[in-house]
Amino acid sequence: MYDVVVVGAGIEGSATAYNLAKNGEKTLLLEQFSLPHSRGSSHGQSRITRVEYGEDDHYAVMMKEGGKLWRSLERESGTSLLVNCGCLSVSKQGNSYMKATISSLSRNGIKYDILTPGDLRDRYPMLSLPPDYVGVFDYSGGVLRADKALRAFQTVLILVLYWKEKKDGEFSAGRFPAFRNIRENGGVYALPSLEYPGHAKVCYHDGPETDPDSRDMADTGRILSTMKSYVREHLPSLQDTPSIVEPCMYTNTPDKQFILDRHPIHRNIIIGAGFSGHGFKLSPVVGKILSELAMDKTPSYDLTPCRIDRFSSTKARM
Ligand SMILES: Cc1cc2nc3c(=O)[nH]c(=O)nc-3n(C[C@H](O)[C@H](O)[C@H](O)COP(=O)(O)OP(=O)(O)OC[C@H]3O[C@@H](n4cnc5c(N)ncnc54)[C@H](O)[C@@H]3O)c2cc1C
Repeated sequence: MYDVVVVGAGIEGSATAYNLAKNGEKTLLLEQFSLPHSRGSSHGQSRITRVEYGEDDHYAVMMKEGGKLWRSLERESGTSLLVNCGCLSVSKQGNSYMKATISSLSRNGIKYDILTPGDLRDRYPMLSLPPDYVGVFDYSGGVLRADKALRAFQTVLILVLYWKEKKDGEFSAGRFPAFRNIRENGGVYALPSLEYPGHAKVCYHDGPETDPDSRDMADTGRILSTMKSYVREHLPSLQDTPSIVEPCMYTNTPDKQFILDRHPIHRNIIIGAGFSGHGFKLSPVVGKILSELAMDKTPSYDLTPCRIDRFSSTKARM
């Protein structure tokens, strides 16, 4: 018997199970594939993080806590996860995304630099951008070590559950028990200790609609050739042939906002879904919120933008 069963050991499910275990809940994390795997959204070595969130200030507010929670997970896991190297956005002058970015940076009191086309050429000689491109450098941004972050949540989860159960003696890696609170593919979970060399990642945030159960069949040829010509044009110091190609899935909601809510009918089911290509950086906060909902506590944030009944079809069913 478990207090809470979390389905899916991606970054959001792992962060949720981690929070539940830390709150003393007897937790089971279920995963359909052997871990780690590259058939969902949380694999790969890196994700962008930043506090600024365009017009969606509710996420910027969450990200202020998110940064602290990432640092706390670093301490607990003894792993460096967040590299605060800043984040550069470039676009044509007057682009609406760029305007929203600058306005959000100002509203949220985040340090930034506006870069003219000349500044961009001086600071980033490795980029080849159209002459009318401008930039904004956001000092709050950086890179999350994605695979290490996923492993860190799962490792600390196991340690917390182990300690809770044992409550005696000393922990040593040599006595690590079978990881029975993460059940995947019928096997035993093992933590690999692979270290990857750093390399450039070029990401294309689009693609065909895909059935998650047959996503391996997705045709990535067109995307690859678009990316290769992008690299040739804008990143001329890189070779255009990738050493690693990793397709990855997005689960998009129509408004690109998350769903963090109770099931409209089955109130003991909590749904965290639709992270729409931007959920990694927020996973420590998402895990905290979903665990609060599961434990019937008042969530730490106003979840109005993330309610499931904002979609008319779920309203009708209710
Ligand atoms: C290419 C790419 C780039 C991205 N870049 C960024 C970025 O720069 N910054 C950022 O913040 N975010 C980014 N994201 C988004 C972020 O990675 C995702 O929002 C996040 O990983 C979603 O995690 P998840 O746990 O919801 O999903 P997943 O990682 O897909 O996890 C869901 C898990 O549930 C399992 N599962 C499903 N059904 C069942 C079942 N019935 N039984 C058991 N298990 C089941 C799946 O196998 C899977 O392991 C990016 C995403 C992609 C794809």
